[in-house]
Amino acid sequence: MLIFVFDKDGTLVRPNSGEIFPQHPTDQEPLPGMREAIAEISGAGCPIVIASNQGGIGRYKSREFAISEFFYLFELFPQISKFYFAPGEGKYAISGELGVYGCEYSESINFPWIASYRKPAPGLLSAIAFERHAHPAEIIFCGDRETDWACAQNFGCGFYWQHQLLDPYLRRSLLNSGSPIPNK
Ligand SMILES: [Mg+2]
Repeated sequence: MLIFVFDKDGTLVRPNSGEIFPQHPTDQEPLPGMREAIAEISGAGCPIVIASNQGGIGRYKSREFAISEFFYLFELFPQISKFYFAPGEGKYAISGELGVYGCEYSESINFPWIASYRKPAPGLLSAIAFERHAHPAEIIFCGDRETDWACAQNFGCGFYWQHQLLDPYLRRSLLNSGSPIPNK
């Protein structure tokens, strides 16, 4: 079973306000076609998580602001329930998810063998793969920027541009092809 990792800004959502980044946690709306894409990928049984840099933390927004953004995104995309992000320079990462009883929590990740979590470094994808006991060949990363593409290259997993996964024919052929490595 493939694991899908999505970038957030410009890939899943855009600000309602017309600004480049969300001005408050609810200043986000799904990009056209993304709800259908996520529903279809999840419907095929593939887990979906988010990997985002969040380099603005410590400059123009707080960590709490960013975490609230992700939990609002879970409301926009009910099929997604886990995020990973790399604050500031990317020396460590934060992950968070909806708990089994709906309670929210987040925790810090700092694996000693990961030098940087900030894309295009592969740290976020490495942490996701490690936690899920997954091989890079089982992971698909989807993003909208060169740094996302380079991150997938550095990690060694498959990459799709955001607009490619909006194409229902390409999406279905990917989902039908499955993973070359058996699910663990
Ligand atoms: Mg982006």
